[in-house]
Amino acid sequence: MTLPSFEEANARAAEGSPFSNSTEGDAWMGNNCERCLNDKPARQGRPQDGCPLVLVAYSGKTPTEWIEKEGFRLGDQYTCIYFRDEDDPGCGEPTPIPDPPDQEVLFPREQFERPARMYADTKPSEVNA
Ligand code: SF4
Repeated sequence: MTLPSFEEANARAAEGSPFSNSTEGDAWMGNNCERCLNDKPARQGRPQDGCPLVLVAYSGKTPTEWIEKEGFRLGDQYTCIYFRDEDDPGCGEPTPIPDPPDQEVLFPREQFERPARMYADTKPSEVNA
């Protein structure tokens, strides 16, 4: 799963800030970006390697990769399709999925592939029994 570049994300982003005020922004970023693998470099002091979607939001546009949820709950207004918990080991599938070996390919499939794949956390969690 490859993040879009800032230019790609910015070109398709919707005009207008995703949040009404800094409290909304801080709450959502705290629940998502601040524990996301894609913005970990920024948290480690390398903002130039941080998530481009965050930069789009900071520039006053709403990334199309953020799907707005119904109703309003502070810190839970959007689902980011690229979110990945930094402790999540991932699904283990290669990206992009390689062509099957020893099979002919009828047509290029890149145009039909999804740019991202949402999946549930695969991070191990404790369960009370
Ligand atoms: S991928 Fe989404 S949740 Fe993760 S840092 Fe970027 S905008 Fe935030």
